[in-house]
Amino acid sequence: MVQLDIASSFSCLLSHEVFLFPCNFYFYILPLFCKVYKAYDLLFPFSLKNIPKKIFKTKARIFQKMKCRKCNKKAVVNLKDYKIALCESCYPIFYEKLVERSIKRYRIIKEKEKVLAAVSGGKDSVSMISALKEIQKKLNFELEVLHINLGIKGYSEKLEKIVKDVASILELEFNTVELKDYGFTIDDVEIKKICSACGISKRYLMNKTARELNFDVVVTGHTSEDIIEFFFKNCLSGNFELNKKLIPRIDSFDKKIVTKARPIFDRTEKENMLYVLCKKLPFSMDACPHAPRRDWKEIIYYIELKKPGFKRAFVVNLAKAMKPEFKEPFKYCMRCGEVSTSAICSFCKLTMKYAKKK
Ligand SMILES: [Zn+2]
Ligand SMILES: [Zn+2]
Repeated sequence: MVQLDIASSFSCLLSHEVFLFPCNFYFYILPLFCKVYKAYDLLFPFSLKNIPKKIFKTKARIFQKMKCRKCNKKAVVNLKDYKIALCESCYPIFYEKLVERSIKRYRIIKEKEKVLAAVSGGKDSVSMISALKEIQKKLNFELEVLHINLGIKGYSEKLEKIVKDVASILELEFNTVELKDYGFTIDDVEIKKICSACGISKRYLMNKTARELNFDVVVTGHTSEDIIEFFFKNCLSGNFELNKKLIPRIDSFDKKIVTKARPIFDRTEKENMLYVLCKKLPFSMDACPHAPRRDWKEIIYYIELKKPGFKRAFVVNLAKAMKPEFKEPFKYCMRCGEVSTSAICSFCKLTMKYAKKK
């Protein structure tokens, strides 16, 4: 079993997350959590330039004295949004309750549904699948794991191994699909088009696999940051209509389309990260080698910093405001028969372009 060690926690902090969150709870929670107080000095030069060291140390000390509201043990997190401090064992339970509440409130998953969870191996999808497993019996739905192997050299194999481990820890059925079976991998796509090709491929394979395996719903680990980022991008490209899709559940509108749902749409990356750390679940800390800069994520964090509660209010109000039904005109792809907006679907266009190079 992959266990999280201190060194890897910090390599993660320093690699992709830490720069974005000035003075947030990572800085004082995680070192406390891992009992590496030296880490404070390590973290300073990177991000807390404008915060006097003294204030920071006082904050850390205050935090060390904080007690879990539920059991009085040492707290590892102080959730400002919910005005509650929690320990390592009570936080996961609290998180799962939040997920359960949202699933019920927004009818994200319904009773007796067969749910296929798309798990990439990152902190968000791993926390989603673990929380779903915890509440599965109570809400009475079936649950299995799907991993899509995109064939990215030196990256995809690691992710697949992590997801396999998570599935075995949680005692869930593991399903996998390989993009290379369609004649190409993400590495074959030219740099500029990689992210869109990756999105197209994942959506296509998720839907096709879920339908072929007779699942009712595919769930993905999109977080509130993802939803807000999509919203901004849709507005900037003038595709305002697409914002209607940014809701927690999109019901199927054709027999070829499986219902899509996002059970952690109102959770944040920080909440997810803390959850997987507390639960000691394996997860990938590597950023995708092709990933673009996280500009949007950074912008969203800065808004949250100035306007606390922004993220949650945004996604929750979006979910309430958007009408769930939308009907796009669609056809069936001439090549593969899947639902498409043009004669040949985007995935087949990719296959035609990149598979023949082999
Ligand atoms: Zn506790
Ligand atoms: Zn097609």
